[in-house]
Amino acid sequence: MDLEFDRNHIWHPYASLLNPPPVYPVVRAEGVRIFLEDGRDLIDGMSSWWSALHGYNVPELNHALRAQMEQMSHVMFGGLTHQPAIALCKKLVEITPPGLNRVFLADSGSVSVEVAIKMALQFWHAQGKPNKNKLLALRNGYHGDTFGAMATCDPVTGMHHLFAGQLSQHLFAPAPRTPFGQPCSDEDIGELEKLVVQNHNILAAVILEPIVQGTGGMRFYSADYLRRVKALCDAYDLLLIADEIATGFGRSGQLFACDHAAISPDILTLGKALTGGTLTLAAALCSDRIAEGICHGEAGVFMHGPTFMGNPLACAVANASIDLLLSSPWQQKVESIETQLKAQLAPLEKAEGVADVRALGAIGVVEMREPVNMARVQEALIERGVWLRPFGKLVYTMPPYTIAEADLTQLTASMVAVLGEMA
Ligand code: PMP
Repeated sequence: MDLEFDRNHIWHPYASLLNPPPVYPVVRAEGVRIFLEDGRDLIDGMSSWWSALHGYNVPELNHALRAQMEQMSHVMFGGLTHQPAIALCKKLVEITPPGLNRVFLADSGSVSVEVAIKMALQFWHAQGKPNKNKLLALRNGYHGDTFGAMATCDPVTGMHHLFAGQLSQHLFAPAPRTPFGQPCSDEDIGELEKLVVQNHNILAAVILEPIVQGTGGMRFYSADYLRRVKALCDAYDLLLIADEIATGFGRSGQLFACDHAAISPDILTLGKALTGGTLTLAAALCSDRIAEGICHGEAGVFMHGPTFMGNPLACAVANASIDLLLSSPWQQKVESIETQLKAQLAPLEKAEGVADVRALGAIGVVEMREPVNMARVQEALIERGVWLRPFGKLVYTMPPYTIAEADLTQLTASMVAVLGEMA
């Protein structure tokens, strides 16, 4: 492959074009393995950023794509509809927390967050409360890279200062500190509660990643905290936007992270694993109240409609992915991945340079005391046949649910060896 051209002309995620980090040429992927051009193969510990739940080159997903392609790859969704979209939206209404009956299909996670924010703002506008137009987000949160979404990301890690004046100004509460599995103290929710009490007249919604704060720190927090946020939203007439783009479809041990707290948000965003990691597709679901409120308003419609909305290929493969997931013992598999991650990463708890080791569902995290040299750690892991992409102080894995016990053992053993050596 022409890596010289790649280095000089192609942006990769969060990368410099002056001093680009290494990129490894891939020729194919199968099961949980990624095959490099030079003949090596790697056990995938990333599920291509939370998306490839079933691994790669999955016959059921390939079949769905081929069959749909023979019918139509795409038609516009304005004024037309089709079975793949109807079947998918029916499934989403059925499996997501109760009350989320209305579905907007979007092209990517960030776009679905834009849609969710727009829904909240348009809802309050329609209620005659246009001043309720700010969001309350959490520190360490991450919701995407487009401007609306970026304005709700952690201001420090999201580098808000670079875009000062261009970003909507929102309010931020401290990140929850109560660990998963523990009751939330009054103190932990106190600052958020204060912000809600003082600002509910200008707040449209609270936006958060339920239970797992992903890209902004890989932190797992109390379901009780989430329940209390929901109760505050109800008490002070704020909407709750739950961003399950990363957590949706079983990753945290429940089908949706909101299920840990048995709550239904007003608006829910999904993406990533929606198509089992094959095509880009996302969704923003909302309750009847939000949908009806928006449509009774001045505009009479919801003001959004992407060109590739409801893409039939993406919907068809999403249907196949959800069917495959729900017909598999996914919860058992995720539980056993969690058990294995906890047991096999435990030796790092006492390693020098390691601040914390944690696992929830099919997510394992090693937090170092200092930022790691991504290129160096990655290279050392590749030498051991493992693909991970650390960032900052975090070296973490969220493997496909289909990973075999022996492959996961090789993956965790490589993390233990490489991070042990680094320290
Ligand atoms: N929200 C969350 C919680 C995410 O993890 C991500 C992606 N990392 C996004 C939104 C943005 O999704 P996308 O990259 O598909 O735009």
